[in-house]
Amino acid sequence: MKLSRRAQEIKPSSTLAITAKAKAMRAQGIDVISFGAGEPDLDTPQHIKDAAIKALQEGFTKYTPVGGIDELKEAIVEKLKRENGLNYQREQILVSCGGKHVLYNLAQAILDEGDEVIIPAPYWVSYPPIVMLAGAKAVTIPTSEEEGFKLSAEALKEAITPKTKAVIINSPSNPTGTAYTRQELEELAEVALRHNIYIISDEIYEKIVYDGFKHVSIASLSEEVKEVTILVNGVSKTYSMTGWRIGYAAGPRELIEAMTRIQSQSTSNPTSFAQKGATAALLGSQEGIPAMVQEYQRRRDLICEMVTSIEGVSCYKPVGAFYVFPNVGAYLGKNFKGNRIENSSQLASYLLDEVRVAVVPGVDFGVEGYLRLSYPISPDVIQEGVRRIKEALTALD
Ligand code: PMP
Ligand code: GLU
Repeated sequence: MKLSRRAQEIKPSSTLAITAKAKAMRAQGIDVISFGAGEPDLDTPQHIKDAAIKALQEGFTKYTPVGGIDELKEAIVEKLKRENGLNYQREQILVSCGGKHVLYNLAQAILDEGDEVIIPAPYWVSYPPIVMLAGAKAVTIPTSEEEGFKLSAEALKEAITPKTKAVIINSPSNPTGTAYTRQELEELAEVALRHNIYIISDEIYEKIVYDGFKHVSIASLSEEVKEVTILVNGVSKTYSMTGWRIGYAAGPRELIEAMTRIQSQSTSNPTSFAQKGATAALLGSQEGIPAMVQEYQRRRDLICEMVTSIEGVSCYKPVGAFYVFPNVGAYLGKNFKGNRIENSSQLASYLLDEVRVAVVPGVDFGVEGYLRLSYPISPDVIQEGVRRIKEALTALD
């Protein structure tokens, strides 16, 4: 069978693949600890489930408008006004099957063969493949741990070419947990405006921020910036709804219309009753969120303290999201039973095989010498998992 060039080039999402592998091992009775996929360990709040159950029972089980039901779009408009100080019309909103699907539709709507998208590395695993599937080129710009893994305005300016269509800003970030201040966003936005490129702002972790950090939506900086920004968000992380598959975009009307046309020829609407659940999530009580964030912050403190207690490991302390990205470069080039561990993929395999701990190698996020650990898991499990990692790393020679 001859597959398309795209199908031959595309790799499975490593975050999902590693998590599937850990689950399969667990099903075989193997005691695996998974720091794999980033997903909350909490259940979806009851009032959200109730809204979806009610919708099902009332027969809300048919096609809906392609881009989402008006009720949900209005809830999104209200949320963006209430929490981000942004004014959008309903026609500027698209609801898709998760934030990932929003990004896919967006890439299909703005990119032509040969176009470039600037992506600061470390980046979320799916950005470059989504760009590639649209026939365009992902231009990754390295950032450094010392500078908090942030893209500077100068680095952005230098990477822009006549083919640049967009830059992706993910704040708070997966996998590093870095987040941009208002001033940093202003500097980046100024460059984007000057060079006439879109800003793709992935704000899916906006609510998961620590130590009083205040998330700023780049679109809220000015009307001009808003016009070139596509804001991407969703309910997966904030409301523990990863399996519901509801994400949304807010942006220029013409672009949202184009993305909606693309969606109409691929998935059609996102699941009808999941949209009702998402509406309840956005309009209902937000009271559970601070306690959830406080709990994540406790786990962040625990995991940061534990990983940095391993000799030779440093770790940027996340400001948001629920990942740590420790630098394990000191352990590359070491040996286990005479086999040299050359890179982060081999190190991740070694940890899974020898101490049954699943982590995602840094290389999947565009940098070598790091591992990503997702920490929405219980503190006991975090402790045991990092203890095993420490044991495995110190066994290398
Ligand atoms: N953006 C980032 C940075 C993410 O980590 C995720 C997590 N999967 C997504 C977007 C998309 O999430 P979802 O498709 O579940 O909305
Ligand atoms: N975003 C999460 C992660 O990075 C979920 C898996 C995925 O969609 O990549 O682990």
